[in-house]
Amino acid sequence: VDELIRKLSEKGLSEAELKQRVSEKQGEFGGLLTEEGALKLVAREHGISVEEVVPVEYRKLVELQEGERANVFVRVTQVFAPKAFEKEERRGRVCNLLVRDESAEGTLVLWNRDVDLIEKGAIERNDLVSVKNALVKKLAPLELHSGILTEIKVEQNQEKEKTIPRKEEQVLTLSQLRDGEMDFDLYARVLDLREEKGFVRERRSDGSLLPVKKDGLIASCWVSDGSAQARLVLWDKNAELVRCMRIGDAVKVEGGYVKKNVRSGALEIHAGWRGRVVLNPRSHSLAGKESMLENTYAKAKILDLKENEAAIIDASLLNIYFARVVRKCLKCGAPVKFVGETGGAEGRTAGAPSCECGSTEIRETPMIACELSDDSAAIRCVFYGRQALELLGVKEFGADPETILQLKKEYLVGKKLSLVVTPKTNPFSGELELVARHLLETK
Ligand SMILES: [Zn+2]
Repeated sequence: VDELIRKLSEKGLSEAELKQRVSEKQGEFGGLLTEEGALKLVAREHGISVEEVVPVEYRKLVELQEGERANVFVRVTQVFAPKAFEKEERRGRVCNLLVRDESAEGTLVLWNRDVDLIEKGAIERNDLVSVKNALVKKLAPLELHSGILTEIKVEQNQEKEKTIPRKEEQVLTLSQLRDGEMDFDLYARVLDLREEKGFVRERRSDGSLLPVKKDGLIASCWVSDGSAQARLVLWDKNAELVRCMRIGDAVKVEGGYVKKNVRSGALEIHAGWRGRVVLNPRSHSLAGKESMLENTYAKAKILDLKENEAAIIDASLLNIYFARVVRKCLKCGAPVKFVGETGGAEGRTAGAPSCECGSTEIRETPMIACELSDDSAAIRCVFYGRQALELLGVKEFGADPETILQLKKEYLVGKKLSLVVTPKTNPFSGELELVARHLLETK
């Protein structure tokens, strides 16, 4: 504080003026501000960085007392999967990190907005971070929690880099993976995306005979690092990341494990609760996106496409025939029509789709059918799900896909598309048509 007053007097503020400004500041805040707090604000207004003048004091983990707020400077040694929770009408996110400094280890629990640092990939394993104003919730084992006043920042610090030991990370390539391998890091590029699926897992909680049902999410993608390819399986909150992934993106798996697929016998990488996935990590040594895709998919002319052989084509969008939502029963697999489209059956509520088998578990998928051409031929191409949404440039189809299509059609027809397609024979027409797998570019 004395140092701040000295700096302010250097700026030409007399003691009387300073006193005046400080009490004015306190008045502005209706007396909620301490003299010291007001002084800091005045200093900031005069271009004096409070942090430089009053350096933050970092405490050693081993010295912390239960219940206090403290600043610590730590290394992140492990990031667990973020979790969503719902408790007594409160919804939020939480994520646990293992951290250490020179003196001890502990858990740093991030809540809500601070979980963004993990989901957006700002913090990776072995980063140094400063944590200001964390709450010391427990001592044995040590647990620090983030709160509204907590500030967390990734830091570059050569001294701490030396004094706080790194966690030895095991970075493996896909060709090095063996069944049962655990807690490794891995870098790869996304070659293909699969749809995510919800599932219900049943778990018996302690002391109760009733199974506890919990909704879960599973998603997978196909990845390559140049040495090999494999399926990457993501669970729960990690699975949500697939929605943001695009083909060709780099991913880093932290704390992954390997499991053999029971049916195919192939080794798969899993990102479960002990691990997490970083989308487009800060640094990696993977080959470029284009060369990775070219090594996976052949570039072809429409005329040369063969059934079931995925390829990249460059084509013009000649026409869009229709946009609609297709509904399929998840129980029996039959296509489902909206009540009303069929004339309607008694006892059903209009607007709620249900299958003739009685199931109400219906999957709705947006679909677009169009015609593509290059200098070799023209062909029908269908876009499903996310690909259909991306073609139209919308987040969802809504109640009336045809109207959206009419609004966008003029703009889209004539565009040049670069996309990965799988040629399939249409079961009704018997002709070869394309299923759009990934829209790479629209020009
Ligand atoms: Zn059905």
